[in-house]
Amino acid sequence: MVDFRLSEEQIALREKARKFALEEVYPVAPYYDKTGEFPMDVIKKAHKEGLMNLGIPKEYGGPGYGALESVLVVEEMAAACAGMATTIYANDLGAEPIILMGTDEQKRRFLTPLTREPLLISFATTEPGMGSDVAGIRTTCERDGDEYVLNGSKMFITNGNHAEFIVIFARLKGTRRHEGLCAFVVPRETEGMKTYGPLKKLGHRASDTATIVLKDARVPAENRIGPEGSGFMLAMMTFMHTRPAIGAMATGLARSAMEYAINYAKQREAFEKKLYEFQAIQHMIADMYARIEAMRLLTWKAAWLLDQGENAWIAASVAKLVGSEDAMKIATDALQIYGGRGYLESYKIAKIFRDAKLYQIYEGTSQIQRHIISRYLFKEYQTLIKDF
Ligand SMILES: Cc1cc2nc3c(=O)[nH]c(=O)nc-3n(C[C@H](O)[C@H](O)[C@H](O)COP(=O)(O)OP(=O)(O)OC[C@H]3O[C@@H](n4cnc5c(N)ncnc54)[C@H](O)[C@@H]3O)c2cc1C
Repeated sequence: MVDFRLSEEQIALREKARKFALEEVYPVAPYYDKTGEFPMDVIKKAHKEGLMNLGIPKEYGGPGYGALESVLVVEEMAAACAGMATTIYANDLGAEPIILMGTDEQKRRFLTPLTREPLLISFATTEPGMGSDVAGIRTTCERDGDEYVLNGSKMFITNGNHAEFIVIFARLKGTRRHEGLCAFVVPRETEGMKTYGPLKKLGHRASDTATIVLKDARVPAENRIGPEGSGFMLAMMTFMHTRPAIGAMATGLARSAMEYAINYAKQREAFEKKLYEFQAIQHMIADMYARIEAMRLLTWKAAWLLDQGENAWIAASVAKLVGSEDAMKIATDALQIYGGRGYLESYKIAKIFRDAKLYQIYEGTSQIQRHIISRYLFKEYQTLIKDF
């Protein structure tokens, strides 16, 4: 059975997120974008409202929302400010490896504090020398008694300068590629770990992006998530759970881009007509709406599969790929409708355009999503037509 209706609880949650996004995020978005200040105030409010740490199970103090509830919330937040949405929902990315493979004790030690106070957790696979190729991680870990010693560096880590815990992926010395990767929860105060930044960015300026250096950083063995060597699989499983939310954020951003374009086209005149009276403009906006509908359904489908406990590997990649590519296209077209004014920083569409680009890059670039989908098509997909 396929049913596109949301439950009453889901509708209420979406309304709550929408109200919060419009009242608490949208008005301050230009300020945080301009200053690059870290939006701790907004994080605290989101935490208080129960709109953070969405996937942390109830038994560990979280709201225990499913993936579908999560995509409903993040669409609303990103519609108000993509940067703040990235900041707030980086906690779901950071918490996911612990939710997936952590022990009960680790969940109590690392997840429960996040639900009690507005603390942050980061996820760190990317390094200066690699990003897409997760199996190419060079940061090393070496067992020494009851501890592991970590050496290396990480780059582009969201919230890294503010996080209480950082989930660091590193390889056991002497191992290669997928084998030997491990994940550790590294507390901020760990000796030997230093964070730097924030890196100055084109968009998502309300999010902190850090560089991390590990020099003989000692982490208790009890902070390792999952068995030795399970790090690669854990990173991929994490992405399967978080990529639908990137598709949903892209949907939210695209929805706002379309709404700005509608409002602008209704009042701007050219050739003694309102812009929206030109069929070329009407069709651009109609295309935006059609794409947004498709983006949303793909994120819902991927989220629904996750909630059924089914494999959502390909659906998550499809939702992320279509969402991020279409968001970039829609932001570009919306800016076009503004003409020269779209190119001015004083118009909000310029921020949307800058913010859109990131969706094609983080949590696996568009090329990596295509790589995943095409590998499935050539290895597993069964064609019904057998001739050519
Ligand atoms: C603002 C921001 C926040 C981020 N947050 C985090 C975070 O919290 N945690 C974290 O770990 N990382 C984070 N990242 C890193 C992000 O996930 C990586 O930048 C991304 O995965 C790409 O890696 P890279 O930059 O090293 O590019 P590379 O891997 O060097 O790729 C460069 C280009 O080559 C293409 N390419 C690479 N391999 C292939 C291939 N096999 N086939 C075709 N094309 C290919 C890529 O698509 C890309 O276009 C963040 C990045 C940014 C910009």
